[in-house]
Amino acid sequence: MDGLDSMVEEVRQALKPYEFRTFLVGATLPTQIHDREDALRARFKIRGRESAKNQLTREIGQRLARRLKKKTDYLKPDVLVNLTVDKDNCITTTVKARPIAFEGRYVKKVRGLPQKQERCAMCLGKGCPLCDYSGLAGYDSVEGIITQHLMAATGGQTPKISWIGSEDQSSLVLGRGRPFYVRISDPKSRHIKKIFSKDWVTVRITGVLEDIPDTQTRFSVKTKIVAKCDRTLAASDMSKLRLLAGREVKFENKSKVTTKKIYALRASKTSDNEASITITADGGLPIKQFIGGEEYMDPNISQLLGAKCQCVTFDILAVDIQ
Ligand SMILES: [Zn+2]
Repeated sequence: MDGLDSMVEEVRQALKPYEFRTFLVGATLPTQIHDREDALRARFKIRGRESAKNQLTREIGQRLARRLKKKTDYLKPDVLVNLTVDKDNCITTTVKARPIAFEGRYVKKVRGLPQKQERCAMCLGKGCPLCDYSGLAGYDSVEGIITQHLMAATGGQTPKISWIGSEDQSSLVLGRGRPFYVRISDPKSRHIKKIFSKDWVTVRITGVLEDIPDTQTRFSVKTKIVAKCDRTLAASDMSKLRLLAGREVKFENKSKVTTKKIYALRASKTSDNEASITITADGGLPIKQFIGGEEYMDPNISQLLGAKCQCVTFDILAVDIQ
């Protein structure tokens, strides 16, 4: 206990990179201290008094609170300080910030940029020195852009993104953009700029969350599809397509039959064998399969028109969380 002031100073140094309002001090003591405490308690029949460990963490916590003008929070501290005392009374201080989570939306106005990034081959996403603790193999994707920005802005590590749906590399994401959730480990700063953009991708942070929601979010997507057919299209083909509005589409997903509803559908011929189809449907409807029908999907556009059709491009116009 004579060394408290120098311990407090060491903790203060370790906390320097962190921006926080509340903290909690914990400690790991060597077994010999616990053993001696037990022996003392047994000898003097002491029951239910504060333990040596609690006294240590409480004293340090109080001194820190005074010195830093911050508060202790036992339930949800912004930073957690841990003092590990070894058998030679050497002390190691580690600081870990509570993860921070955001919800946001991104708009992508360029074709050819993938949504997701490959994991780092070394750590498979856990974060290592090779990937600068991003967990990614690079930053040339929407995921890469969001990750790189949020790591720089918060000083945190391995952002984990949970997407509300997915798109093709060649798809645009327009309107208000696609929603996503992201959690960042060990952030040094908990305040970030609400909007940032790079390479035709604009990201808006729409809220700060306690954590990423762990249930699957239900959503609907409005998609504009350019479809190509191997025969000349007729006006009657467009009428057939429009009848899909209000219908349910069945297909196989992970060896289970899934159903997605089509809420609205507009179709118009744009050239002899091309059509523009704008569809609003439950999120998770595989668009290419819906046009091409190579795998089981009922109904699908190729089957409906009795001709081989394929999806040329599809762009996301709106994503709405239900
Ligand atoms: Zn790595």
